[in-house]
Amino acid sequence: MSIDQAGFTKNDLAKYPFLKETARHLSPLDLQIEDLTNSDMHQILDRAMERVTLAITNLTVRPLIGTQGRYVIKDLQKEITSFPVAIMLVSATGNSLIKKRYALAEAKQATNELFLESKELLLKIAFDFGWKIAIAPSDSGSEFDLNFSDFLQNASHLHDAKWKLVNSKLFEGKVYLNKRDVVRLLQEEIKRRIEKRLNTVAIDQYPPEISEIAEKLKTLAAENIGQNETDFPKIVVQEAFPPCINALYTAASKNHHLPHMGRFALTSFLVNIGMSAESVTELFKSFSDYNERLTRYQVEHIAGERGSGTKYTCPQCSILQTHNVCKNRDTFCERIYHPLKYYKLKSELTFQSQPEKPEESPTSNT
Ligand code: SF4
Repeated sequence: MSIDQAGFTKNDLAKYPFLKETARHLSPLDLQIEDLTNSDMHQILDRAMERVTLAITNLTVRPLIGTQGRYVIKDLQKEITSFPVAIMLVSATGNSLIKKRYALAEAKQATNELFLESKELLLKIAFDFGWKIAIAPSDSGSEFDLNFSDFLQNASHLHDAKWKLVNSKLFEGKVYLNKRDVVRLLQEEIKRRIEKRLNTVAIDQYPPEISEIAEKLKTLAAENIGQNETDFPKIVVQEAFPPCINALYTAASKNHHLPHMGRFALTSFLVNIGMSAESVTELFKSFSDYNERLTRYQVEHIAGERGSGTKYTCPQCSILQTHNVCKNRDTFCERIYHPLKYYKLKSELTFQSQPEKPEESPTSNT
C-alpha cells in the first residue's frame, strides 16, 4: 500500500482529531449543538471542557500524568468526539483570545505526538494539508524534501533566521528538512486549520447550558490569559523587558519616531508592569511632537486613570507581529504568547540572581 492510499487508524484520529478524516468518521453521528446537553453526551462534554480549560490554563489539551508519564487515551471514540465539541464550546465564547489559545494548545499537543511518529505517518498527515512532500533521497543528508511554496506558507510565520529561505537547503524548488523542522512547520499548519475552523462555526443560538459554560470559560480566560500576568515585581526590571518592548523603549529614549501601535504597546506595557503614568509621560517628553497635556491624557487613559477607569492591556504577540512591532525575537519568545508573560517569567529569573532594588524607574539608566 502506498503511503497516500493508507487511511488513518482510530488511534491516529484520537491523537490528531483535526484531520479531514475525523469529519468523515463522525459524520454518522450528525452532531448538533442541541445534542451536547443530552445525558449520553455528558462524558464527551466533560472531556471537551477539559480540553478548553487546559488550553486556557496550561496551553495543552491533555492532563499531565506523572513527570515522565504520557496521557493514555482510554476511550478513543470519546477523545475523537470531544474535539468538535470543544470547537463548539470555544466558538460559543466568541472570544478571539480563547480561540487563538485553544488552536495553539491543540497544535502544540499534536506536535508533541508527531515527534514520536514514523516518517510515513508524518507524510500522511502532511498530505492531509495538501503538502507536496516526500522522503528525501538517502544521499541528500536530509530526511524530507518539501515543495518550497508549502515551506514558505508556514515558515513565514516563524521568526528565527533558520526559517528564512536564503538560509535553507533549497534545490530544484524543494527545501530539504529534518523531521524536527517538518513537525514545527506542521504545527503552524495545524494551528491555522483549527483557527479557521473556529472562525467559521455558524451557530445562531447556543442552548443556555452551553452559554453558561462559555461564560465560565471566559471568566477563566480573564483570570489566566494576559490578566494573570499582573503579579509583577514591585519595581520595574528593564533586563526582563521582551525584545519588542526593549526596542520601543530604546527608540523612545533616543527620541526616535514610534508608530501608533508602538506607542500604545509601550505605554500599555509599562503601565501594566507598574510604572506610573507620570514616568511614562516623562519618557515621551523629548519627542518632537510632544504635547504634555495630550500625552498625559493619553497615558492616563491607557492606565485607567481617566474615562471608564479601564486599564488597557498590552496587545499580545500575534497582534504585535501583525503590526511589525515584534522585533528581535529570542528563545524566550518561543515560550510565550504575550509580552507581559515574557516579562513575568524573565523577571522571576532575574530576581533569582539579583537583589531587590528600591526605585520605581527602570533598573538600567536610560
Ligand atoms: S514574540 Fe512577543 S514578546 Fe517576543 S518580541 Fe515578539 S511580540 Fe515581543
